[in-house]
Amino acid sequence: MEGPSISSRVRRLRPSVTVSVAQRARALRAAGEDVIGFTLGEPDFDTPKIIKQRAIDALLAGRTKYEATLGDPATREAICEKLTRENGIPGLTREHVGVSAGAKQALYVVLHCLFDPPECGGEPQEVLLPTPTWVSYEPLAELAGARVRRLATTREDGFRISASRLAEAIGERTRLVILCTPSNPCGTVYPEEDLRAIADVVAEASRSRAPGLMVLVDEIYEKLVYGGVKHFSLGSIPEISERVITINGLSKAYAMTGWRAGYCACPGAFGLELMRAMATLQGQISTNVTSFVLAAIPAALREAGDEVERMRRTFAARAERMSDRLRAIEGIEALPTQGAIYAFCDVSAHFGKRSAGGREISSALSFSEALLEEQKLAVIPGEDFGPPGERHIRLSFACSEETIDRGLDRLDAFVRSLR
Ligand code: PMP
Ligand code: GLU
Repeated sequence: MEGPSISSRVRRLRPSVTVSVAQRARALRAAGEDVIGFTLGEPDFDTPKIIKQRAIDALLAGRTKYEATLGDPATREAICEKLTRENGIPGLTREHVGVSAGAKQALYVVLHCLFDPPECGGEPQEVLLPTPTWVSYEPLAELAGARVRRLATTREDGFRISASRLAEAIGERTRLVILCTPSNPCGTVYPEEDLRAIADVVAEASRSRAPGLMVLVDEIYEKLVYGGVKHFSLGSIPEISERVITINGLSKAYAMTGWRAGYCACPGAFGLELMRAMATLQGQISTNVTSFVLAAIPAALREAGDEVERMRRTFAARAERMSDRLRAIEGIEALPTQGAIYAFCDVSAHFGKRSAGGREISSALSFSEALLEEQKLAVIPGEDFGPPGERHIRLSFACSEETIDRGLDRLDAFVRSLR
């Protein structure tokens, strides 16, 4: 008899590079190394007090029991109201909304509700994934049984997929398109006109070759936009709103990464069916999110606007600082950040060189590793974001301007040392 073993599905699953590089930097720091981390997309602010107070009040009042799986009615209502008022998504009721332990769990549960694993028979259905994009979509979609087709974008196109390329890519087996705007890792934002053109393509394809087509839009960075750039929700376009699953969460805008509060929504009859399916699946995995976290969600959405704006302004100043400084570093190409909390830099001009410590620089990974070893600056290598991420590194500016300066001094020194 063979000994205990881990499932091949999970053995094949690649770890999240964003999480693992951040953990490595944290471990080096704990061991006394002077490491600067531009790694995690984790706001460095504390959660606004009003939000904490609601959770504390609920906890002290004894809100410590199981709750409805997708959240209590008042919390779902607050989310529904927010998505209707701020995002313009039509036709939502609280029954079209579900709360999960972070946007990550919402994504996991949604994907499992949409796809069948191969053992269920039939041809695998397809996810179209414009890249570079956040590291978790592809592994989670594959885990759910989908086949992922990457659609590489370019810096010249602002790392956005055009409606015409999407139209060409959608085939009979396409079940889902995943978009992330503002983009992690690219820092770019889809303008309204691009999303309207994409909506036309989705409407046309769903009337013909892809009747089951849906679009999942991750809007977790929606409030972190800079320089007058506006976020627009694809789900607000009435012609396709019932085909759009909007994912969002409180981690970024409200500085609540540790709380694990995310949600998703989809209007229409299928939206209701999806929420029922999600309730069944989540009911077998984790049931509700922490009861007193639920109490804080309406407070965040309704009462923390000023705090969110204060944090956004700080991020805007950091984005500008980082863009300005990066422009002066040799062989680093980056678009100015329009949204999210990242600068995405093409470092391929340095491939083929050697570092002062004798390391060969042939990829984003080797660039990042040498940078960490020799200059104690941790960044995320772009390979796992999908093409052309392999030529890029991602720098998170969820840190003070002083840290940005010190970190970029190190990047500059590193680049100058390359021969
Ligand atoms: N989507 C994107 C684009 C992200 O960058 C992240 C990282 N936090 C998530 C979803 C997951 O967020 P959370 O699970 O903390 O809500
Ligand atoms: N999303 C954040 C990032 O990309 C946090 C880590 C993760 O969940 O991937 O850095």
